[in-house]
Amino acid sequence: MISWAAREHHRFEAAGRPFVYLVPSAAIFALDDTADAIMRRLTERPYTREELESELAERHGHAELEDTITELARVRAIGELIVPLREDTPQPKIFPLTPFPLTTMVLNVTNQCNLSCTYCYEYSEDKIVDTENGKKPKFMSEETARQSVEFMLKESGDNKVAHITFFGGETLLNFPVLKKTIAYARQRGAELGKEVDFSLTTNGTLLKPDIIEFLAENRVGVTISIDGPREVQDKFRVFHNGTGSYDVVAPKIRELLKKHRSRPIGARVTLTSGPLDIRRIYRHLTEEIGFWEVGFAPVTTSPGRGHAISETGYDDMLGQFRDLAYEFLEYSVENRHHGFSNVKETLEEIHKGMSKAFPCGAGLGLMGVATDGDVALCHRFAGSDAHKLGTVADGIDRNAQHAFLEKHHIANKTDCSACWARPLCSGGCYHEAHTRYGETSRPNLHYCDWIRGWTDVCLQIYGELSERNPAFLAQFDEPMAAERVS
Ligand code: SF4
Ligand code: SF4
Repeated sequence: MISWAAREHHRFEAAGRPFVYLVPSAAIFALDDTADAIMRRLTERPYTREELESELAERHGHAELEDTITELARVRAIGELIVPLREDTPQPKIFPLTPFPLTTMVLNVTNQCNLSCTYCYEYSEDKIVDTENGKKPKFMSEETARQSVEFMLKESGDNKVAHITFFGGETLLNFPVLKKTIAYARQRGAELGKEVDFSLTTNGTLLKPDIIEFLAENRVGVTISIDGPREVQDKFRVFHNGTGSYDVVAPKIRELLKKHRSRPIGARVTLTSGPLDIRRIYRHLTEEIGFWEVGFAPVTTSPGRGHAISETGYDDMLGQFRDLAYEFLEYSVENRHHGFSNVKETLEEIHKGMSKAFPCGAGLGLMGVATDGDVALCHRFAGSDAHKLGTVADGIDRNAQHAFLEKHHIANKTDCSACWARPLCSGGCYHEAHTRYGETSRPNLHYCDWIRGWTDVCLQIYGELSERNPAFLAQFDEPMAAERVS
């Protein structure tokens, strides 16, 4: 006799009703009473149709029960137990077609920085690339930057838009090359019929009036690395002599926000060991400074460092993220802007039904270029020979890329195979894994509770919005423009 079983799913509640997130398809469905009763039974153990009838028909009615079983089977929430449904069978490895077009090139125009942030992944004890002993040039030359532009335009394939992000070190230390690169890329893009979009990340210390004017005129997207109010910023974001940077950057950022109106400007906050007051940081950066949006990221570090977030710190962070996410929800229900970008980014991934074979675009749609033109997985690996995928002069080493993708596919991460959050997490950031475990292919098992907790919050927010203001979600119907640079 055939039994039915629930496929892998995560049940959550939003807007007072149950939903399921279906792991194999990354789809979300609201459940009515009958569907919920069936799913609950089939989550406990497999049931035959007759067993379901005998337990549920009296309350839900035969016809309703039959229709619901058919519907749940159609959306693949449940299945006949002919083969094991819990994916005991190995997950097939599906690779994107190659050559996969490059969407975003992150150009590390310098590996030098005028700040000395204690937690910095580039200079602290956890650094991957030796930037001090002259192995790589301190600044990217104009010639290498031009070659990088040619590389990007070529590797972007049929894409109509190529995204170039300038990064560092402190990016604006090499403003002369940045400026010339933008002009060159624009001209070459026009010749080839492509639009080139520019953005940069900076610590804000060098935002002089002429630079601000240039960024505004050229519609360069700007992300500022800043940690919050003075006492938070000055804890880690210090100059080489140890003095805090808040009083230097705050007026410059205010000036930037006043003059640069052609693109929304965001802040990127690194969260460290507590005590954390995320809402206060958010309020300060949006209301007192004026940022359009704020994204938070836990510091990447090996365990045991003073600034590493502890397990209880992650719990606390999740609680505060949840509060801010629910504030985002209330604003969004009223179609008011709220700048908590972490929740917005995850909502977009949920809406698009993303099911990732790889955690991010690194080594696929996104690559980082070191000051000497070596191409690596992403900006955080730029300059690391062990993570090199080619050069801007010779192009992408397709063998190295294939070997990387083969090794890092989610199907290899057996620890993740039973995790309901894997369509969105896929093992997490390679750089985090490298810093934590010395190996990019390891899943980031130290923060699974945090990832699952945060994903659950975002599913709830998504469910609430789908009931209370579904029009809000329509903004995510558009394809994703660029890879995210975290
Ligand atoms: S790293 Fe953890 S949370 Fe992420 S997919 Fe793997 S098991 Fe799940
Ligand atoms: S998530 Fe990690 S590996 Fe991926 S692009 Fe960002 S820093 Fe690089």
